Amino acid sequence: MAQAELTIDLAALCANWRALRDASGRAEAGAVVKANAYGLGADRVAPALADAGARRFFVAVAEEGAALRRILGPGPEICVFSGHMDGDADMIRAGNLVPMINSIDQMLRHVEGLPGHPFGLQLDSGMNRLGMEDSEWRALRDIALAQNPVLVMSHLACADEPDHPMNRQQLHAFRAMTDGIDVPRSLSATGGILLGEDYHFDVTRPGVGMYGGLPFVEARPVVQLTIPVIQTREVQPGETVGYGNSWTADRPTRVATIAGGYADGILRAMGPEASLWAGEDKCKVLGRISMDLIGVDVTGLKDIPDRLELLGQHQSVDTLADWAGSIGYEILTSLGLRYHRTYLPA
Ligand SMILES: *Cc1c(COP(=O)(O)O)cnc(C)c1O
Repeated sequence: MAQAELTIDLAALCANWRALRDASGRAEAGAVVKANAYGLGADRVAPALADAGARRFFVAVAEEGAALRRILGPGPEICVFSGHMDGDADMIRAGNLVPMINSIDQMLRHVEGLPGHPFGLQLDSGMNRLGMEDSEWRALRDIALAQNPVLVMSHLACADEPDHPMNRQQLHAFRAMTDGIDVPRSLSATGGILLGEDYHFDVTRPGVGMYGGLPFVEARPVVQLTIPVIQTREVQPGETVGYGNSWTADRPTRVATIAGGYADGILRAMGPEASLWAGEDKCKVLGRISMDLIGVDVTGLKDIPDRLELLGQHQSVDTLADWAGSIGYEILTSLGLRYHRTYLPA
């Protein structure tokens, strides 16, 4: 069998959620499970988090919310960041979803299409991505508050850089827009939780930290990825490995070809920086990463193992992201569909 094995540790995931919940102080910790729980499988991740005590989940679009409702059943609140889009009304009603209203247009659509149905409000505090601008909010505020929103939220642009002045600036903007209103407030994702109490408000929205990614430095690793060795060969000085002859041996080298590639989310851009592990031995990637295969230097190994480890205790999604000039989020959400997935129970 040449299928790579992705192991997802639900116990580590839940421990990370609990740590972020505790770091949220008096605020309630929700859980962000958009993009199929950052690629790890909402059908397994969300129920584990619900069992751990998460009561409020966040997704990007109504379709994800509808699928999540089927997974979780009635009870947990499911908030939709993209709000109430044209055509969403049936899904929002049937799934008992809470759209986070982003504009006056969405507010009108919501009260006309689903009068009395719960909703939240999303405000822009400076990121200029989603949410009402200050001027829109001033115009709508009294009308919107009279409809009893369940949550008012905004999102930080630079929370992974604790000293960035944007954090304070957005905090002040959010306060100026919401101080004195009698609605639970939410500003912080993983990075904001770690900025401290001022940023916690009533509800936090941890995502990447639960999945083992930065900026939650203390996160337990959640994913392990091991890839089978298909064959090995000896190459002599002057011989090349892989497409484009981008690597040339300068000494006799033993090369293992492993069964994974960029079609599995192993980004080609990681290039020559990348390495894998055989137990405690580090093995460098040789030449270009192809669609389904990668050459690896196993010259130093006494025995050739059945599999090499790309993600695990030695290196995280953020290590791989650094090699590719990316972020851990992109590595997680790129993990392919060809893996055999195993879930360690919570
Ligand atoms: C993705 C997202 C989150 C979670 O962010 P992390 O950095 O993964 O913790 C929270 N809120 C909003 C609005 C998001 O888009």
